[in-house]
Amino acid sequence: MKDQFGREINYLRISLTDNCNLRCVYCMPLHDLQFVPTSELLSITELEKIGHAAVEVGFNKIRLTGGEPTLRQDLVDIVRKLSNIDGINEITMTTNGYRLPYIADDLLAAGMHRLNIHVDSLDHKRLSRLMRLGTLDKAWAGIHAAEKAGFSQIKLNVVITRGYNDADAVELARLTLTKSWQIRFIELMPFAGPSEIALNNYVSSDESKQWIEDELGPLSPINGQALDGEARVYRLADSVGTVGFISPISNPYCDDCNRLRLTSDGRVRMCLLSDKELNFRNILRQDGSHQDLVTLFKQAIQAKPVGHQLKHGIHPENRTMSQIGG
Ligand code: SAM
Ligand code: SF4
Repeated sequence: MKDQFGREINYLRISLTDNCNLRCVYCMPLHDLQFVPTSELLSITELEKIGHAAVEVGFNKIRLTGGEPTLRQDLVDIVRKLSNIDGINEITMTTNGYRLPYIADDLLAAGMHRLNIHVDSLDHKRLSRLMRLGTLDKAWAGIHAAEKAGFSQIKLNVVITRGYNDADAVELARLTLTKSWQIRFIELMPFAGPSEIALNNYVSSDESKQWIEDELGPLSPINGQALDGEARVYRLADSVGTVGFISPISNPYCDDCNRLRLTSDGRVRMCLLSDKELNFRNILRQDGSHQDLVTLFKQAIQAKPVGHQLKHGIHPENRTMSQIGG
């Protein structure tokens, strides 16, 4: 279904939990955290109902995220149920990868198509400073588990944060010379919670691209400047993998935005960077029908804003990134 600006909305990102086993500096505070109680998270049955309604309005692609989606004990069952819904062509997940050694095989068997794994550094100390509670060994174990299970087209997500992992842009991009992965550099965005770091430690895609080119040579655009998801993709000479830049601040992709986001407590956000939400959980828990859900999805699509308002200094105030689902 098209929104009022002619964009085909077919991609639903579902957050399964706002909890996480890490505390990345730009995503979650270290203390005073309150997580959505399990009883208020959408259940597997509710997620299945959402999936059926979403397909009816034209969604065909789902990404699971969080918080850390692998903390859901019923994750494999959720993937199996959603992948069995006729009309859903693709299920992917964004994860920090730490639990993949235990579940990667089962996820693939349940119908998961691809994984994006978040790793901000190749240096033990820098990684632990930025992805607090994280270790490089666990990140690598997750990436290797994904490969061993047979996942292809693995993407690694990197948030470049000035003063924390500047040196890693080059080293991570260098991986594409020998690995068929896509390394994606994401610009820091401000949310509720740790928004100061996003405003003070932001690095533009142009700047991180320049760092990479200074060391490793030119990055040639692939497909002109066509977006791959939200990334603009390049290749180093003789590389087997690719380098992507996700630039919501310096080069927004709002004109091509095709997604809605469902939070773990059942609200649909029309834009990652706007606080407006519609409450789907109320419908689910007040015996609303399939048609009620379909109607609310149509309303959400029609209410999708033309773009974000960061350049006017407006950023989300009601949720951290972990509470929305990145
Ligand atoms: N825990 C999983 C992970 O880290 O991949 C999934 C959820 S996390 C919120 C999804 C993505 O959001 C991560 O890849 C991370 O890079 C990105 N992210 C988190 N906070 C961000 C911020 N303030 N600005 C830009 N990206 C952010
Ligand atoms: Fe957890 Fe992902 Fe947020 Fe890091 S970015 S704290 S891994 S939810």
